[in-house]
Amino acid sequence: MSALTYDRVQGQFERLKLAHLPDRLDGLAEEATKQGWTDVEFLDRLLATAIDARSARDIAMKTKLAHFPATKTLEDLDFPFQPSINERQIRELATLRFVAQGENLLLLGPPGVGKTHLAIALGMLAISQGISVYFLTVADLLALLERDAKEDRLAHRLQALARPKLVILDEMGYFPLDRLAAQFLFQLVSRRYGKTSLIITSNKSYGDWGDIFADQVLASAILDRLLHHSTTINIRGQSYRLREKRQAGVFHDLTATPKEG
Ligand code: ADP
Ligand code: MG
Repeated sequence: MSALTYDRVQGQFERLKLAHLPDRLDGLAEEATKQGWTDVEFLDRLLATAIDARSARDIAMKTKLAHFPATKTLEDLDFPFQPSINERQIRELATLRFVAQGENLLLLGPPGVGKTHLAIALGMLAISQGISVYFLTVADLLALLERDAKEDRLAHRLQALARPKLVILDEMGYFPLDRLAAQFLFQLVSRRYGKTSLIITSNKSYGDWGDIFADQVLASAILDRLLHHSTTINIRGQSYRLREKRQAGVFHDLTATPKEG
């Protein structure tokens, strides 16, 4: 290959937005000579390299857009520690069929039992399969809505939160939702109903959801739609956070129930 052709190929990669390929070209060309690849075999490897890099970039971009507060995977979930988490059920959820079918997942349980961990892990898996995900806490939502209401941008927010194939709404129950937030949530759940998935985590059982919302009627309308196509996982057991602290000797009295978030 002449130097001129070599430069032109590099330039063409750039124009095709395959900026990472120039680094791989020499290696692949060398490999092709060594292995005696045909032209088509060479092209096949080159395109596979380009596609791999593009999907890696796509995953990185989607992960950034998802706003996860931490990186969590199912691999680092200690199942024996939390026997009320059924590993088989989680493996089934990890197929993400529920997302493909626009179903919801509700993770209920006291603080520290792994609700957020599970939600993030499933969200990260979804992204690895090209699914768009957005993570926010109820506290984030309330802050956004307060600002949006002032700027008259609630409709815009509703549209933005209706779009991702999977939205994770974390920590339902720590803060009461005023009428505006309850109405917004009702509209969001209705928009997404049957089409796109929500994962909601909560420290409150459904019976207590009425207390979270200023309006009982809205609360039951929201729950009705949320639960229609859904899976609920009730996690009972010890807080993993407290276990770590206990191991570090912070808490000696195991019967005490220190406050945690
Ligand atoms: P929750 O959302 O239920 O309050 P988290 O999911 O935030 O609890 O879990 C608290 C911390 O403990 C996180 O750092 C999480 O990764 C970890 N954790 C919780 N349960 C487990 C578990 N079974 N195995 C490993 N780590 C866990
Ligand atoms: Mg949590």
